[in-house]
Amino acid sequence: MAGRGENGLDLVLAQPRGFCAGVVRAVDIVERALAQGDRAVGDPAVYVRHEIVHNGRVVADLKAKGARFVESLDEVPDGATTIFSAHGVSRAVEAEAARRGLPVIDATCPLVAKVHKQGQLYAAQGRTVILIGHAGHAEVEGTLGRIDGAVHLVGSAAEAESLDLPADTKLAYVTQTTLSVDDTRAIIAVLARRFPDLVGPETKDICYATQNRQAAVRALAEIADVILVVGARNSSNCNRLREIAAEAGRPSHLVEGEEDVDRIDFGAARTLGLTAGASTPEVVIAEVIAALQRRTPLRISTLPGVIESVNFPLPSSLGHT
Ligand code: SF4
Repeated sequence: MAGRGENGLDLVLAQPRGFCAGVVRAVDIVERALAQGDRAVGDPAVYVRHEIVHNGRVVADLKAKGARFVESLDEVPDGATTIFSAHGVSRAVEAEAARRGLPVIDATCPLVAKVHKQGQLYAAQGRTVILIGHAGHAEVEGTLGRIDGAVHLVGSAAEAESLDLPADTKLAYVTQTTLSVDDTRAIIAVLARRFPDLVGPETKDICYATQNRQAAVRALAEIADVILVVGARNSSNCNRLREIAAEAGRPSHLVEGEEDVDRIDFGAARTLGLTAGASTPEVVIAEVIAALQRRTPLRISTLPGVIESVNFPLPSSLGHT
């Protein structure tokens, strides 16, 4: 690989990177709801509860098109079309929307909805449910609020070690989708050792997009000297990609946009690796690459990797706009 300076840098792109099918669907839902509103003159505005996906650019673009983002249904006026974000919502939020008679379009990713159903099934079987995930994350709040009975949130192997339950408890676990099979392995191993009556979903049920992007950044870290992850600081999957690259021993930076590029010290790097989280739009990736190119000449290539063809159908009310 060629070195820096006049000769520039090699820039290797991870495959896959950027938008997943759940994010494409969620953004599409807001855009179509806005388009429907435009046609029906006088319709109230489209309100989205929570960031539709964790990316400021996506939110800003949709705001510019007329969407209004709120954290609580209290902020939604009566009669306004209300969209639940890709992260999902608790039953309490759903019930509040129903009580208010709000017209709701649910943009919860089908893979998140699958976790909800799995958790409900385990609870109905009389099992105490463990949710493996990060406290405070929107998806975790939604999942916790959809499973009946006691649900214990566990975020690390240490927390699994200190879980205060009898060893013969009938347990089941489900996981936050932005954690990968690899992330959860150590936690599940502790739970299985401490609680022999433990069941969980098939590993193939964990989000394909998370697994593919994490595998891709690991492959990238084998050849790149410095890793750039394009995405938002409040995005769980982007932070995890950066951590994985750092764990592989590479200096790793989360890059929110082109404005961050000049702050990064490439050191003696000859090869940069670039990836992006599932909520990062292609336009931001392109802007970051352009900013890198302004800084130094680049030879750009893409690592071989999984070509994704997953596609989630839209809600039927929006499918034919
Ligand atoms: S990362 Fe996975 S679970 Fe999350 S929106 Fe994308 S496809 Fe759905």
